[in-house]
Amino acid sequence: MTELAGHCHCGAIRVDLETPRQAADLPLRACQCSFCRRHGAETTSDPAGRLHIEAAPGAANRYRFAGRSSDFLVCAECGVYVAATLETDDGLIAVLNVRGVDLPGFEGRQAQPMIYDDETAGERLARRKARWTPAVFVETNPSA
Ligand SMILES: [Zn+2]
Repeated sequence: MTELAGHCHCGAIRVDLETPRQAADLPLRACQCSFCRRHGAETTSDPAGRLHIEAAPGAANRYRFAGRSSDFLVCAECGVYVAATLETDDGLIAVLNVRGVDLPGFEGRQAQPMIYDDETAGERLARRKARWTPAVFVETNPSA
């Protein structure tokens, strides 16, 4: 198991990605939608992994646009886009913004540009279910 930890700029939102793969074998994608481009987001996910997201109370703003099909978690303190989450019938899944949380193991890597504009809502859901990481989101006071 590889365990990769990161956090937003101010530390109010912390993430922990557990994956059976090495960081170098995880995908790195640059979604070309209008939101991700503005944040310079480069994301990863692993359907065989598990993402733990821990936010201080009130620290995670949820932003939705267009299809309004997922929540973009943005830190209320520092403005960093941390992750996108989606509640499915199989539970919460997420994609993590590697650059937003400065996740280790991706230094110097070039992200693959992705364009999802032509997807139907059904195709979008199927893709996310196939690729995104099972996730847990908790609000809690920082222990440290
Ligand atoms: Zn923050």
